[in-house]
Amino acid sequence: MKFYSTNKSVPSVSLMEAVTKGLAGDNGLFMPERIEEFHPEFFKGLHQMSFQEISFEVANKFFGEDIPEHILDDIIFDTLNFDCPIVRVRGNIYSLELFHGPTLAFKDVGGRFMARLLAHFLKGFDKEVNVLVATSGDTGSAVANGFLNVPGIKVYVLYPKGLVSDIQEKQFTTLGKNITALEVDGTFDDCQRLVKSAFLDKELNDAMVLTSANSINVARFLPQSFYYFNAYARLREAGNTNDIVFSVPSGNFGNLTAGLFAKFMGLPVKRFIAANNENDVVYQYLQTGTYEPRASVATIANAMDVGAPSNFARILELYNNSHRDICADMVGYRYSDDEIRETMKQVYEKENYMLDPHGAVGYRALKADLGTDEVGVFLETAHPAKFTETVEGVLGKGTVVLPEKLAAFMKGEKLSIGMSTDFTDFKDYLLSK
Ligand SMILES: *Cc1c(COP(=O)(O)O)cnc(C)c1O
Repeated sequence: MKFYSTNKSVPSVSLMEAVTKGLAGDNGLFMPERIEEFHPEFFKGLHQMSFQEISFEVANKFFGEDIPEHILDDIIFDTLNFDCPIVRVRGNIYSLELFHGPTLAFKDVGGRFMARLLAHFLKGFDKEVNVLVATSGDTGSAVANGFLNVPGIKVYVLYPKGLVSDIQEKQFTTLGKNITALEVDGTFDDCQRLVKSAFLDKELNDAMVLTSANSINVARFLPQSFYYFNAYARLREAGNTNDIVFSVPSGNFGNLTAGLFAKFMGLPVKRFIAANNENDVVYQYLQTGTYEPRASVATIANAMDVGAPSNFARILELYNNSHRDICADMVGYRYSDDEIRETMKQVYEKENYMLDPHGAVGYRALKADLGTDEVGVFLETAHPAKFTETVEGVLGKGTVVLPEKLAAFMKGEKLSIGMSTDFTDFKDYLLSK
């Protein structure tokens, strides 16, 4: 399968090239040249399949031409050795819990898949690949942990100083080995800009092989479509046959775009809700038809503090830039920090379910919008313990129990290198490696 650029001014590339490059040469995002639909019969038997079995079938549609079946099978069963269950929160509202992986956030799925896929491509090559990843918190930990000890790969995690939680920071600054954490004196948008500039810098690209592991990268982002199929299967398994609405707490819009891909592959989804915090440029676009990226602001749902969401280009491409067609498939909501806190508190007290700040945004939008003949699924994108300070600030001290997996990270020592927001500093640093 070939991958083309959303900017359409460079030729299409192979899967291997799309994965090792990350971003296309014209600054566009790679798109698969085809989105294959499943036969409707496929969905009738889906409830009898496990998350891993479903994921294999979906992965095969995108990667089957390029990756031998037994290798893809190994990658899937090695990567996705955890579940993504649905849990009923109230009435017809379900939480799709994506936090049962090693770093307790949905990004484990794509991060681990990409690491294994890249390792497969690098086998027999005498080249070192440098993965650059800008993170607002969760991407860094998922990617760093996914790539830890993978031969031939070095990872540089760029994160905004003081803007990620202690637990998040520990998950990517304590690993050492092939993982380096760069603490940038700026915002997430600054980190993302540094990474994008690096990909476009000729001198740097002549000197070293660079790739991204943000949801820019097709190997990171396409696997995120797996769990939408799984949610459908688990709802049908539970006997629920209502029309499905997905509410997706969004930042860079990788997750939501992966959901749209699932719909384009034939998954019966009625519509999507794009749920934002105060960083609401996509919400504004849905209201007005005008897309105006701007600087991000800090919120308590910090993994969604994105002012210029990369995957928006993919959404426009999927719908041929038609605002009307996009609005037919999704509506937008946006919530302030106070509203997020209020929702976390209410749901904890009334439904006995602990939301993290991101999931709370998804839940609230779903509750506001869901019809009685529909069933709603919001993506619970991270375990509440990843945001213990915020969650306990709302629900009270001692409410959050730190899972074993996270407690282990907290014991490690932070190792990170300070970095300015100036691209020349970053470039010089990379060239010195
Ligand atoms: C990354 C992240 C998001 C946003 O996902 P996008 O794909 O960037 O829209 C939401 N919640 C959490 C916890 C995240 O880590």
